[in-house]
Formats: sequence, C-alpha cells, structure tokens
Amino acid sequence: MQQAAQPDRVVSLPTLRVGGGVAGGSLIEMMPATPACVASKANPTQQSGVEAISVFDIFKIGVGPSSSHTMGPWRATQRFLRAIDERVGLTNVQRIQVDLFGSLAKTGKGHGTDLAVVLALAGEDPVTCKVEGLTDRFHAILRNKRLRLAGDREIGFDAGTDIRFHMDRALPFHPNGVTFTAFLKPGNQWDRPPASLPTSSSPSNTSSNTSNIKADRPEAGPTETSETYYSVGGGFVVQENESPSGHRAVTLPFPIEHASELLAYCEKHRSSIPQIVLRNELAWRAESDIRLDLIKIWREMHACIWRGCTTDGILPGGLNVVRRAASMSRKMLEGDAPAGIDAWTSAVKASVRDFEHILKWVSAFALAVNEENACFGRVVTAPTNGAAGVIPAVMMYARCFKDMSDDKTIAFMLTSGEIGSLFKKGATISAAMGGCQAEIGVSSAMAAAGLTQVLGGSPGQVLMAAEIAMEHHLGMTCDPIGGLVQIPCIERNIMGAIKAITAANVAMESNPATAKVSLDQVIATMWQTAKDMSTKYKETAEGGLAVAVTISEC
Ligand code: SF4
Repeated sequence: MQQAAQPDRVVSLPTLRVGGGVAGGSLIEMMPATPACVASKANPTQQSGVEAISVFDIFKIGVGPSSSHTMGPWRATQRFLRAIDERVGLTNVQRIQVDLFGSLAKTGKGHGTDLAVVLALAGEDPVTCKVEGLTDRFHAILRNKRLRLAGDREIGFDAGTDIRFHMDRALPFHPNGVTFTAFLKPGNQWDRPPASLPTSSSPSNTSSNTSNIKADRPEAGPTETSETYYSVGGGFVVQENESPSGHRAVTLPFPIEHASELLAYCEKHRSSIPQIVLRNELAWRAESDIRLDLIKIWREMHACIWRGCTTDGILPGGLNVVRRAASMSRKMLEGDAPAGIDAWTSAVKASVRDFEHILKWVSAFALAVNEENACFGRVVTAPTNGAAGVIPAVMMYARCFKDMSDDKTIAFMLTSGEIGSLFKKGATISAAMGGCQAEIGVSSAMAAAGLTQVLGGSPGQVLMAAEIAMEHHLGMTCDPIGGLVQIPCIERNIMGAIKAITAANVAMESNPATAKVSLDQVIATMWQTAKDMSTKYKETAEGGLAVAVTISEC
C-alpha cells in the first residue's frame, strides 16, 4: 500500500517576505513541541562524534570550474595568508611558493587551480570578485611576474617556478593536497619554529606516493614556514592534522549521521525533513537569515541559468566545445530571448509544456549552468562545481512547471542540503576520492530528495528518491577530457537532473516500507565502490574518455 504523503500542515512553510523578513508564523512554531535541548542531552556521544554541516556549507556561491580544484585551493590560499598575517605580518613576506600534489597537480591546470591560487594571493575573493575579466587579470599577473599580496604590497611571483605541479606525488591524507611556503624578507624570522612540510610518515589512509618535497628544496629555516591544506570536495578545506569539523563546534538539536536517524527524528516529532534541518540550522543563524540567504543562493542559481541560456560562444581550454544552452532556449522560445531575466523566465513558463519541451528545458537549464561554470563564471556549489547544474535545473523545472514558491524553494534546499551532508559524512563528495558518482550521483540524489519534498512526499519517500537516484549512478567514473570540466561533465549534469526527476516521480508512487535498498545502504555502497575504484578514474584524467579522446582530436 502506498504511504500517505506528508500533510500540507507539515510540508508547507510560512510566507517569505524577501527583504522584509518573514511574514506569518515561524516554521519552528508550526512544529510540534521539540525538546531541542533534551535531544542534545539525550545523545551526548552521538553529538560529539557527528560532524556538523550546515546547508550553507553545501550550497556556496563561488567561481567555476571546480569546487575541489578551484574553490578549495582559493579558500586554502586565503586561510594561509590570514595565518601568515597573524603570525608575522604580510608586509614581511618576500616570496610565496605553492606545491600542488596528486589530483590537484594532475588536473589542476584544466580545473583552474593555478588561477584560483594566484587570484587568492592577489587578494580576490571567489564570492565578491568580478568574474568578468577574471582570466585577463590572472594572465596579467603571469606576464608581469608580480602581484599585490592580499591586494596590498607588491611582491615578485613567477607562476612558472613558484607554483609546482607534483604530477607523480600525492600526500597521504587526501589526493587534493597543497602546501604553501612563505619566505620572509632578510632580517625577519618567525616567533616560533616553522611548520614542517608533509612527509611520508604523516598519517596515511592511501597507498599514494608520499615523497617528501623537502628533498628538492632548501631546508626549512627560521625565515620560512609552510602549511599544508587539503581540498576534500565541494569547496571544503581542512588543514593538516585538523579534524573536518574542528572549527565548527556547535551543538545541534538533531545530530544526524545516517538517514535512518533523520527518519527517526521526523517520525518521533511528526515533522518533515526541512523542519528538522531548519532546527539544526538555527545553531548557526537566525531563521529569518536562513530564509533570506537561501533565497539569495537560489537567485544566484537562477541568474546563472539565465546567463547560460542567453550566451553563445566557444568554451575556453582548447576542446572548442560550442555552447548550446542559448540556441536551445532560442529554438524553444521561437526567437531571441526577451531582454532581462524576469521576461525570459516568464517566456519559459509560458512556452509549450509537452513532455519533449519540458525535457529540453531541463536539459538547457543544466547545460546553461555548466557552460557558465566552464567559463570561470559565478556558480553555486551543489554540492560541487562540476555537478553545479543538476540541482538548479531541477529547481528551475519545479519553479517553471510545478509552481514551486519561495517557501517550497527553501524546503527543497534544506532537504537536498541534508542529503548532501549525509553523503559527505558517510562517503565522499570528492571526485578525487570517489569518481563522478561522488559529484553527479550525489547532486542527483540531493535534487531527487528536494523535488520529492516539494511534491508532497513523506520523509520516507524523500529518502527513497535520493536512494533511487544514487543507485543508478554507482560506479560512475571521473574522466574529464583534457582535465577540463567540460566533457563528459556538462552533459552528465543533464542526465543527473533527468534521473532526479524520474527518481522523485517513482518514489512518489512507491511505498518506502517495501524498499529493498535503504539510503544508508546505498551511501555505504557508494563509499565501498569509491575505495575499490582505480585511481585513474578519480579526477586524474588518466583513464576512460580522458585517454580515449585527446584535446588534439577535438
Ligand atoms: S567527470 Fe564528473 S566528477 Fe569528473 S570533473 Fe567531470 S563532473 Fe566532475
């Protein structure tokens, strides 16, 4: 027998007055009495062992093309500069050297790692920087061999020698490792011994080559210091020996590590998944801010779709990939796009709504985001940049063709964000660790869950939709041609979005109580598959399509 859908009383959210706070009752008031502090006290060991991840850690505004290879190194560089500034002051730094390891070295050029590091050193921020002219500013620094450190004092910087790609070396903790070294001006020294560079004796959970980079550089002395960071997927960064959640010590009313715990909370408190997630989000920020900031993120996604659907051209990098979203949009609108995002969106909503057209629109939305992503455009990690098109495409589908309101948009994002967190905690969202199943597979599962929520699915159906979507991405490898986030990445976002919509519809017609595979089981299977997968299929461009087709053939 089909499980009853979640009643509107639980699913619907209060009206959001964007720019003016929240109208109507608070979502928290609408929940049955929830003993937040009791829940926390009742699970002290669980709380202490569970990584706390906010929906805003999953959805982050940034710059393409890669969350792990662009966003992560960008943030790591900023963290290093802040640490150096606090310790000795950036004015005393004479030179910076950057060593990239493992996947960051192998696909770093195609994924814009060097661009991210250089612009971060020059003081640019991925959220606030002007994306127009980004590559011009990068190339100007390369040409002049000088940059303004943190946007301030000028230092020499020769990317040819100051950024080193260690193609045959990986650090023990994670394939995406980067070590920064700051050299001080003569006469200065650190007030404490320099941090040691990573060595082969560091804690290891991989069989990767772990050569010590000290071997080919001068001994570290009191006038230089190094720090190592890891870009662990989705723009998340951890410093060597730092616990993933070490800087995020919060007490959540509903600590969640497994989908089964999330479901139990929903059942116990007769709440929907977004209501439970919102309760946890309150550990970081006020409800009104959560709502406004989620809508702000949706607007970035929407703007990205619109830019992609109105921009023609060839993608950079040498593959000569022709952008297709704009021509698809024109064809379906039977002419040039109306000027402005609102007019274009209205035209999409008013266009033909048969199956074929809607399928093409979903495809165009996903193409649009990932074409923007490939051009170093502004995108939202969801949960990564390579997979940034799946969730916006499904959300745009729901807004254009399912009348998804702002309130339901918030519910979608809270739900899908939590599913992304479950995958990060139980498996990985890093293609360098798990292949493309960790990017497109996870984003498809997140989108399927979010859509099922707004279609009125029960918590069990929401989790079932996520399980179905991932089940049919298991084993998907990462093999980007030329190391660029273009082929097969861009079209994979279309497939991830379509699978998500299908998974949601199947879950809505199913009884989760009869499901043979749980979301927790599929997460565990994905992680085991990741561990079994050959390294050449983990964002190294050394296997699959990446070796079957070369840039020179394109
Ligand atoms: S193949 Fe998949 S995981 Fe690899 S870069 Fe492309 S989208 Fe990301």
